[in-house]
Amino acid sequence: MTITPNSVVALTYKLHTISNGEREFVEEADQANPLVFLYGVGMMLPKFEENINGLKQGDTIDFELVAADAYGEKDENAVTQLPADMFKESGIPPIGEVLPLQDNQGNQFRARVVEVSPEAVVVDLNHPMAGQNLHFDIEILNVREATADELSHGHAHGVDGHEGH
Ligand SMILES: [Zn+2]
Repeated sequence: MTITPNSVVALTYKLHTISNGEREFVEEADQANPLVFLYGVGMMLPKFEENINGLKQGDTIDFELVAADAYGEKDENAVTQLPADMFKESGIPPIGEVLPLQDNQGNQFRARVVEVSPEAVVVDLNHPMAGQNLHFDIEILNVREATADELSHGHAHGVDGHEGH
């Protein structure tokens, strides 16, 4: 069958970011550990799904998503200072460390340390891939209909549909 809404897709991918024509490897999912997801329910980037729509087992494709269609443009204002007092117990984190933070609504997000001074730790709240174009190399390993359980849960249960979650 071909990839349509409510099918479960298993695929391998290699993800690179692209800036100034240079490709930088980010991550991959291989045959031993493919990406498995319920298609068409908003779990994946919409443009990602658009590019693989209608493909079938064995098909390969590579495509690029511009930043606006991926994780968005970088927001230069999404940089904030955390008082050094916050790190009395844990110690001041090094530049580059990613801190798991929570706002007062309970939303979790990640903040990357970009600058450290005795008074404050400056963090960047942008998604790590914000502002970057993404390049995907994909092979479709399997396409099947979602089970009733998967549809009611809104996610895939592994390649064969019988895995726990
Ligand atoms: Zn489930």
